[in-house]
Amino acid sequence: APTLLWFRQDLRLTDNPALTAAVAAGRPLIPVFVLDDADAGHWATGGAARWWLHHSLEALAEAMGTRGGSLVLRRGPASEVIGRLVEETGAAAVFWNRRYEPWATRRDAEIKADLKRRGVEARSFNSALLCEPWQIETRTGGPYKVFTPFWKALRAAVETATPTPPPERLPTPARMPTGDALADWALTPRGPDWAGGLRAAWLPGENAALRRLDGFLDEAVLDYARKRDLPAEPATSRLSPHLHFGELGPRQAWHAALSRHEPGRTDKFLSELAWREFAHHLLHHFPDLPDRPLRPEFAGFPWVDDPQGLRAWQQGRTGYPIVDAGLRELWQTGWMHNRVRMIVASFLIKDLLIPWQAGEAWFWDTLVDADLANNAASWQWVAGCGADAAPFFRVFNPSLQGVKFDPDGAYVRRWVPELARLPAAAIHSPWAARPLDLADAGIRLGRDYPGPIVDHAAARDRALAAFKALRKD
Ligand code: FAD
Repeated sequence: APTLLWFRQDLRLTDNPALTAAVAAGRPLIPVFVLDDADAGHWATGGAARWWLHHSLEALAEAMGTRGGSLVLRRGPASEVIGRLVEETGAAAVFWNRRYEPWATRRDAEIKADLKRRGVEARSFNSALLCEPWQIETRTGGPYKVFTPFWKALRAAVETATPTPPPERLPTPARMPTGDALADWALTPRGPDWAGGLRAAWLPGENAALRRLDGFLDEAVLDYARKRDLPAEPATSRLSPHLHFGELGPRQAWHAALSRHEPGRTDKFLSELAWREFAHHLLHHFPDLPDRPLRPEFAGFPWVDDPQGLRAWQQGRTGYPIVDAGLRELWQTGWMHNRVRMIVASFLIKDLLIPWQAGEAWFWDTLVDADLANNAASWQWVAGCGADAAPFFRVFNPSLQGVKFDPDGAYVRRWVPELARLPAAAIHSPWAARPLDLADAGIRLGRDYPGPIVDHAAARDRALAAFKALRKD
């Protein structure tokens, strides 16, 4: 009787505990991936991430092929698909690596109970996190809500065993069950091809993830603490989509960073991996995180219904160059620099008073690294309603953020080319540029580039007044 190996967000062969255990069990292996949109409901994988998933599955299937295996694709509610596959194949066991989305943990618990009732062994493993969310507790026994003590506790708990290598051969049964053709899932654009920018920016798959990690650890990691806030620099790892899809596990990144460099040199990078852990910790303990503010008093916040403002923000036409650059980078490449994510999020929430959930939903559909835990925790952090969040009254000034983190305007020039010829002194506030500079650069505001859709100073006052009213209630 074979073992079903259920791939989910662990699309790799290295350091994959469910795979290692399944091979060690000594039975033939039937690897399967289930497209489970029905289970995920309104958090089903978004557009850009579907593009990534397509190519990641292709890469995984190819890697399995070179080891004598193959990948079976099925779609539908996982409880039905897995149950049916067990019947079809007479599988004695189902192994998988855990996910942490509330819809997935609920469903997986049901599937596990059902398999056990049928006398089928069901085992789950940790491939996605350094530590399970329930392994780390405060001294009084609850979840952490503050990052720094969480980070200390995590650091003390992480075990840095050498990651397990991929199996050389996959034990394959004489007959594999049939599966869908990947192309029939239509994960990549069918109509207008919007994925050109994604193709140019990314190579999904485990091999590409390992190469990216390796390249980042060669040098960039040593300058990471100093340059990670500068969006024009290639200073961060860009591992986020690889980590999201489990083409690379955090243990591999952690272990490689520590084994390649002196102690302390990579701490800042490790602490960002810890923010990812913290977000998953929060999502596990507060499953409403993606949908409702963690601090309940924010439920009564006087948000504004502003579809036009939302549209301008989504399309990168707010008239604030750093905001527009970020949203255009996102639209074209499926990724945005972290500093700019914070700036555009602050602008949506505080300058436009649009609910953070609207921004979260836009990111969900357009990011290749869209991740329920990281996205929700980060949006709540910027909105000031999350755990250990930036206080609401700290409102980013988009022009000053631009001047500080993109001092010569290289980032804006790259993504808002109509402003490329403005001098650095004017590039983050074109509305205040000298008429001569605008004329020299060939720009008429309102024609070639929008004027600001809100006045930041007035918008800031409005946001603070709204926040004050909330606190009085
Ligand atoms: P690096 O700086 O190289 O960091 C290494 C890894 O650490 C990242 O790949 C990521 O997995 C993790 N990480 C870094 N910063 C954070 C953080 N603040 N929170 C959680 N994990 C972090 N990240 C996502 O992976 N998916 C999302 O959907 C997402 N949405 C975000 C929304 C907003 C409003 C903000 C402000 C941040 C969001 N982030 C999200 C966090 C962060 O911006 C990205 O993880 C980071 O920019 C990815 O680039 P990188 O791989 O080069 O990061």
